[in-house]
Amino acid sequence: MTQTFRALMIEDRDGTPAAGFRDLTLDALPDHDVLVEIAYSTVNYKDGLALTGAIPIARRLPMVAGIDLAGTVVESRDPRWQPDDKVLVNGWGLSETEWGGYSRYQRLKPEWLTRLPEGFSLQDAMAVGTAGYTAGLCVNVLEDWGMIQPGGREVLVTGAAGGVGSTAISLLAARGYRVTAATGRPETHDYLSELGATAFVDRAELAGKGAPLQKERWAGAVDSVGSTTLVNVLAQTDYGGAVAACGLAGGADLPGTVMPHILRSVALLGVDSVMAPQARRDRAWATLAASLDRAHLARIARVEPMSKLPELAAEIVAGKIRGRVVVDVT
Ligand code: NDP
Repeated sequence: MTQTFRALMIEDRDGTPAAGFRDLTLDALPDHDVLVEIAYSTVNYKDGLALTGAIPIARRLPMVAGIDLAGTVVESRDPRWQPDDKVLVNGWGLSETEWGGYSRYQRLKPEWLTRLPEGFSLQDAMAVGTAGYTAGLCVNVLEDWGMIQPGGREVLVTGAAGGVGSTAISLLAARGYRVTAATGRPETHDYLSELGATAFVDRAELAGKGAPLQKERWAGAVDSVGSTTLVNVLAQTDYGGAVAACGLAGGADLPGTVMPHILRSVALLGVDSVMAPQARRDRAWATLAASLDRAHLARIARVEPMSKLPELAAEIVAGKIRGRVVVDVT
């Protein structure tokens, strides 16, 4: 095919990485075994960082950005994948070291592909995206830890109105947990209540420097904020509880003490989505398939054209996006 298609690329412009739309042909794509026609991608916080250059994400240039994609296999040199298979990719270095999803076509390694889970459309898969799949990973590690109980002590979700937070609230509430949402946007309370949050904390309450051990409030927590917020959440976690930490929307530092860990056996459970093994991914998607209310998903996500990516990137870095944004790359 000599026809061109549009991609959003990060390039070196006078020594600075800068994003711009380019026309590509199939010949320009990497020589990986599976060619996928992409229908949708999405905007995650990391995509915002990559496109705005707030933190350099691409480790080689030029780079097709977009850490997620969902589409249909066109050609495959690998027996695991056949033309017309519906697939998605989350992470695996897309937009960092490997060309990603902001493109009509992409060539990908077979081991990066996940079969589209039953009950999800390609658009749904990107409404979930890396943010939602990470929420699934977080719920799984908290349940494995064993301290959160349906109907029991509260589970806190920070960064509540964001992509990870919104999806985590919906999942936890559907599984019977009592969910408190920590948000800096009171105007999102109705939205978060609809997803299943039953109580709220102003995120400013968690942002300052607090005592190393505080009143126990949470059996567990999903934290996508990091920094002093995570430190305070750990200091407020019940004896034996756990915090699933996946994000740094408030900062990458962790200015705390070991007190919650050594005096209350509180666990800090790190969650990475990018290089998570396939079995863990499949389990997170199974959690999403079982517990993510499709009406909530429709409420969480909206669809935007690829042309709006530069402004959406700036909005997500500024903390202004509510829920999730699906990107139509067609
Ligand atoms: P979003 O921007 O959608 O959500 C982040 C939310 O964090 C915002 O909506 C806001 O919530 C809150 N927030 C933003 N800035 C601040 C601040 N300065 N202080 C306190 N809270 C703040 O991003 P995502 O949900 O896509 O991602 C969330 C985080 O998780 C990011 O850091 C991202 O990089 C990380 N992440 C990590 C993954 C992994 O593999 N470990 C995978 C996916 C995401 P509110 O308005 O409700 O206060």
